[in-house]
Amino acid sequence: MTEKFISIAEAMKRGHGKVAIRGWIYRERGSNELKFLVIRDSSDIIQCVLKKEKFAKQWAEIDKLQVEASVEIEGAIKEDKRAPTGFEVEADKITIVGLSDKFPINKDLNEELLGDRRHLWLRSRKMNAILKIRSTVTGALHEYFRSKDFYEFQSPILIPGGAEEGPTMFSVDYFGKKMYLAQTWQLYAEAAMYSLEKIYCIAPSFRAEKSKTTRHLTEYWHTEMEVAWANLDELMAYAEEMTKHVIKRVLEKNKKELEILGRDWKKLEPSLKKKFPHITYDQVLKILKEKKKTNVPWGKDLRTIEEEKFMEDHDTPVFVTNYPKEIMAFYKPRDPKNPKTALCFDMLGPENNHEIIGGSVRDTNIDELKKSLKAKGEKLEDYKYYFDIHSYGAIPHGGYGLGTERLIKWICGLETIKDAIGFPRTMTRYNP
Ligand code: ATP
Ligand code: MN
Repeated sequence: MTEKFISIAEAMKRGHGKVAIRGWIYRERGSNELKFLVIRDSSDIIQCVLKKEKFAKQWAEIDKLQVEASVEIEGAIKEDKRAPTGFEVEADKITIVGLSDKFPINKDLNEELLGDRRHLWLRSRKMNAILKIRSTVTGALHEYFRSKDFYEFQSPILIPGGAEEGPTMFSVDYFGKKMYLAQTWQLYAEAAMYSLEKIYCIAPSFRAEKSKTTRHLTEYWHTEMEVAWANLDELMAYAEEMTKHVIKRVLEKNKKELEILGRDWKKLEPSLKKKFPHITYDQVLKILKEKKKTNVPWGKDLRTIEEEKFMEDHDTPVFVTNYPKEIMAFYKPRDPKNPKTALCFDMLGPENNHEIIGGSVRDTNIDELKKSLKAKGEKLEDYKYYFDIHSYGAIPHGGYGLGTERLIKWICGLETIKDAIGFPRTMTRYNP
């Protein structure tokens, strides 16, 4: 007879009459005569009141119930302005399903201690809200790419050494040989692009990042795409439309969750309505110098503080294009119109969110690729595979990678990327 139970959200939508709900005790307080149990389920929380006179036989048990015990409650629901979510159930019946030990989380725990108890902290309203928004975000990303006729293509996570190996890759013992965890699907995606033309994937990427910033994980979900025949402007158009689509879906589905997080969702609206500015690296240096009294020598990457100063004047993401060729990955081609720079972009997020997407056209000129690799001290024989895929009918193409958690961090207004994923992995946090 499980059908008789309805979600707390559904019960509040009905607003009157008998309801049967079930969930976990979120808060409890009581007196001799009354017990107030705030019950949570995945949908919401609601206050239930139990009167001793109705529960004489069970009272001793009810009185001992601790936070997170699971219960089924039947009773009459009515509006009550004083209750935390505006409704109250006056219980006629309670069934105790699972008792709870003393719950080891309270409001005084710091980030480290909450991290140690992550498996239990997921039950908090905060994590519940974030995980719902995360689900909307990944759903909207799939929806977006599929609506644009992209195929979903998966690449291996275990990859041989060679291309792009280095200090930021995790190695794995593979039957006595060394293999690595992929940092990106790109080199495989380019191979598959020659078959499917428009592809995307949402999968974990691994980076042995020693940086302890609020935007780096060692395992993150990388949303990547690769498109045949695309130029830089087309890639940025996809990135912008995709970002707007995700925000639109979150604002449609998750205003309640954004409010639980205390996120001022109005701050997301400019990103829906306005076109994201496009600006070159050269122009950014000029603005930093003239308006922010900050000198960046040409050829240096923008540092955190410089990105923040530049983004102060923007309330939407900004595409910064044409970074210096020398500091870019080997596969980013020179811009024929400005050969010191590469045909690439970073999409920087507002509100101190830094790089959310990085993308580029891909170089298919094998001589140029070899020159760039040599300049970076790479061994050419490691890249035979890559030269191969561009040796049979090479075409212009490109793609980008989105840090899914960085997008979630921005949308939710989180202080740290660690809260954008259920069980974060960083250099110092890998448990539970
Ligand atoms: P950053 O300079 O911020 O470390 P990156 O330029 O090394 O990033 P890319 O190789 O361009 O990153 O990866 C594509 C996208 O993946 C980035 O735009 C970013 O959103 C995301 N990303 C990269 N590294 C991480 C990480 N360690 N944790 C979470 N997301 C990441
Ligand atoms: Mn990047």
